[in-house]
Amino acid sequence: MGRFAPSPTGPLHLGSLYTALASYLDARRHNGLWLLRIDDLDTPRNADGASDAILRCLERFGLHWDGNVYFQIQHLEHYQQILATLQHQQWLYACRCSRKTLANTPIYPGYCREAGFVDDESSALRLKTQDRQIEFDDALQGFISQNLIREHGDFIVRRKDRIIAYQFAVVIDDYNQRINHVVRGADLLDSTAKQLYLQQLLGYPMPRYTHLPLIVDQQGNKLSKQTLAAPADDSHPESTMFLLLRLLRQNPPAELANAPAELQLQWAIAHWKPLALKKIRAIQPPIH
Ligand SMILES: [Zn+2]
Repeated sequence: MGRFAPSPTGPLHLGSLYTALASYLDARRHNGLWLLRIDDLDTPRNADGASDAILRCLERFGLHWDGNVYFQIQHLEHYQQILATLQHQQWLYACRCSRKTLANTPIYPGYCREAGFVDDESSALRLKTQDRQIEFDDALQGFISQNLIREHGDFIVRRKDRIIAYQFAVVIDDYNQRINHVVRGADLLDSTAKQLYLQQLLGYPMPRYTHLPLIVDQQGNKLSKQTLAAPADDSHPESTMFLLLRLLRQNPPAELANAPAELQLQWAIAHWKPLALKKIRAIQPPIH
């Protein structure tokens, strides 16, 4: 069971479509389901109409998902319940540190851990981490081992503005949706240990992870809405699909270049070889 979980902050760009395609191919290659989740918890960032545009774009490329679309915002009560349980078990504490206080401390030093603050409008909730290694074997990036308390510190599961943190929601969603294979960008590699730690606390099984190399521009910056990467060109899905298969190093045969996207997909499912991307962290699209 695989999934694609875009944020509805704007249209899909090439980098997000590339992730969608890889997770789709991987699920289909293993005769698995491919689920779609809209990562819409960070409501101030959601753009009007973006969810619909994302769904239409995926359909244009023949990336048809299974079942109903899962909107995170419809599961707020469930996240709150689990937060309350963890709070009751004293895994969480209220943190009142300002952004300014923490500006020069990338690793949270635990200032509020023993302060006993009441959880109110001026506090975020942090999860207590432990001094032990969290380990996993990524299908492409290899063995990863992190000590959370030393490398990240206690981390936020609910922000000061009451928004549920990505790290927290994603673990619950993957479990709810029974995802057992996560294929996503290597920009999330560094936060995977936090998610494993939460899975362990909650008694959830660990999915298998495949972190794809990021598509970067000529300056080495990740393509994203922030860097104003152009929306994926869905007026010519066949040429975009061919480019994506080349970026995924799948070596599509030249005669497929002008074939309909659906036909290219059929070929790509049958020939899917994720290991062509082994140990690569970043790739650049060819210049036209
Ligand atoms: Zn604090």
